[in-house]
Amino acid sequence: MLELRNRKVAERIVNQIKALHINLKIMHVCGTHQDTIVRYGLDHLLKTCGVEVIQGPGCPVCVTTPLEIQQAIALAENGVTIATFGDMVRVPAGDTSLEKVRAEGGDVRIVYSIDDARAIAETKEVVFLGVGFETTAPSTAVTVLDEPDNFSVLSFHRYIPPALDALLEMGEIKIDAILCPGHVSTIIGALPYVPLAEKYGIPHVIAGFEPLDVLMAVYMMAKQVQEGRHEVENEYVRCVNTEGNVKAQKVIGEVFEPADASWRGFPPIPQSKMAMRKKYAAYDAAEIYEDVLEGIEELPEPKGCRCGDVLRGVIYPQQCPLFGRVCTPSNPVGPCMVSIEGACNIEYRYKND
Ligand code: SF4
Repeated sequence: MLELRNRKVAERIVNQIKALHINLKIMHVCGTHQDTIVRYGLDHLLKTCGVEVIQGPGCPVCVTTPLEIQQAIALAENGVTIATFGDMVRVPAGDTSLEKVRAEGGDVRIVYSIDDARAIAETKEVVFLGVGFETTAPSTAVTVLDEPDNFSVLSFHRYIPPALDALLEMGEIKIDAILCPGHVSTIIGALPYVPLAEKYGIPHVIAGFEPLDVLMAVYMMAKQVQEGRHEVENEYVRCVNTEGNVKAQKVIGEVFEPADASWRGFPPIPQSKMAMRKKYAAYDAAEIYEDVLEGIEELPEPKGCRCGDVLRGVIYPQQCPLFGRVCTPSNPVGPCMVSIEGACNIEYRYKND
């Protein structure tokens, strides 16, 4: 671990990047990468090398849409017990949130793993909010395959490659290379990025989460651009292999199937959501509680909040007029300030504390 934070090695890599004399705009889609980049000041360090780094739609809580939050709230308001990870309860939808529903008597439980939700199901019916990308979906799928009593999932799980495809296709901002998420890549491997690197002609490099991982991955991207290559490379070889975790991919594929879905700040992205397959309808809260969920009209984003622009990499958090004034981690206006993986929250925590 300490080796991967070695200052002297970092300086050598930075000098190598500088020696390439190249200007790059890099996007990543991972809250943990953003944490490393901001915490260790790599954003400023890389700027001195001509490299700009922006966070895209890499925070699962942030990309969850207002409608999905409203659906969870509707269930809680109708007496259904909800189990979810902590950040989700504070995401506002209109003038309410799961946290407010809980304060008014709703049964909203914060859990630290899906096993905690299963423990609740031993005594009462519970709906688990399935949030996250390919990294967290296997544990949800394995639980469903176990066919537990009193247990269902409202799936907000999403696939990362279709989001990258949509982002690059939109062409809203110029992106020279993609820093691929290490956690997601442990599951999906390197192969899903190959068609994207080909289609858009830009390098994709999978990186780990230590400072030297990120710096080395940036060097690999810069080297590719300088040499006119656009390949998928893997800096995170200690955890990621080309094929990924085939067993985990199988359980995801067994329980979920791709469906078109909106992501916060994006138009609908084809085949980007993990919808539960019909054969597991008995564990699909969207089916079980269809009568409660149907007809809910999506509320607009919180007034003045620019999470959508942050998630598409169009602005930095501090360019939102509400950042740090009206919107702070203790009084968040949008999900990017609620979630510890959100770009606004990370920026505020490391640069305002
Ligand atoms: S600072 Fe707050 S209001 Fe602005 S984009 Fe971020 S979360 Fe939304």
